[in-house]
Amino acid sequence: MATIIDGKMLSLKLKEEMKGRIAQMKEEGIVPKLVVVLVGNDSASQVYVRNKHKSCGEVGIESEVITMPEETTQQELLEVVERLNQDNSVDGILVQLPLPKQIDEKTVLRAIRPDKDVDGFHPVNVGLLSIGDECFAPATPSGIVVMLKEYGIEIAGKHCVIVGRSNIVGKPMAALMLKENATVTVCHSKTNNLAEITRQADILIVATGRRNTVTADMVKEGVVVIDVGMNRNELGKLCGDVDFENVKEKASFITPVPGGVGPMTITELLESTILAAKRHH
Ligand code: NDP
Repeated sequence: MATIIDGKMLSLKLKEEMKGRIAQMKEEGIVPKLVVVLVGNDSASQVYVRNKHKSCGEVGIESEVITMPEETTQQELLEVVERLNQDNSVDGILVQLPLPKQIDEKTVLRAIRPDKDVDGFHPVNVGLLSIGDECFAPATPSGIVVMLKEYGIEIAGKHCVIVGRSNIVGKPMAALMLKENATVTVCHSKTNNLAEITRQADILIVATGRRNTVTADMVKEGVVVIDVGMNRNELGKLCGDVDFENVKEKASFITPVPGGVGPMTITELLESTILAAKRHH
């Protein structure tokens, strides 16, 4: 029976520790500031943005939410991003995705100054991550590395299998695990014999957005399982990509959904904002 990795508790602990560091920065005249831009009426995005704003407040990071209507043009959004790029009081800029269909996400993400790109989606940061240099790395995979380390799980030399290759989770996860000296395999929807590969994993990270992508017959005894997925089951209850109830009987560690990876994602965003503020001063 696995140890359940408690991302919620860990995130509370890390935020508590962050408060002290931010208080110290304020004494030195540095006030970290994050601006989140929310375009449109996506209800999930509204919840995410509210949580980010609330978490900033809890640790002492100044935060502002700019809300723009659904019909905002790309040019109008780019003008807001440019104003924030120029504003010296702003350390981090985050444009909440997805954007309405008339706006090209790539163009907007590339307009954010790389040194304020706390989400780590700008090609400059993606490139820095892939060559193993200091950069802003996307919050979800960064949070997973912190979680593994906090639970004393060895990464170096282990076979890490990642299921999913998105730019937000799978690919940056692979770069971060390589940096930690894991041997990394990345799987996706075109992978043949997925179960054969997942059964080889010492650490298995699943980010497909599909329930039951990984079942108990697809893992070996003692595996560490990190479930990134956020899905709803037929009862409308939040669940991950892994068959938690059965896989936990074979795993050594496993993250629950909710309460695993999710809370760590926000914590890492706060961490990146602190880093941005330090660099700006
Ligand atoms: P994407 O849809 O962008 O990517 C999904 C990936 O999974 C793709 O690479 C796809 O392959 C692969 N995939 C899909 N089905 C299968 C399958 N049956 N077997 C193997 N691979 C498969 O999703 P994201 O990476 O953005 O997100 C993944 C999940 O994580 C979602 O549920 C999302 O809500 C959640 N999430 C949670 C976060 C958190 O903070 N907890 C943060 C970010 C995401 P291909 O490339 O071939 O299409």
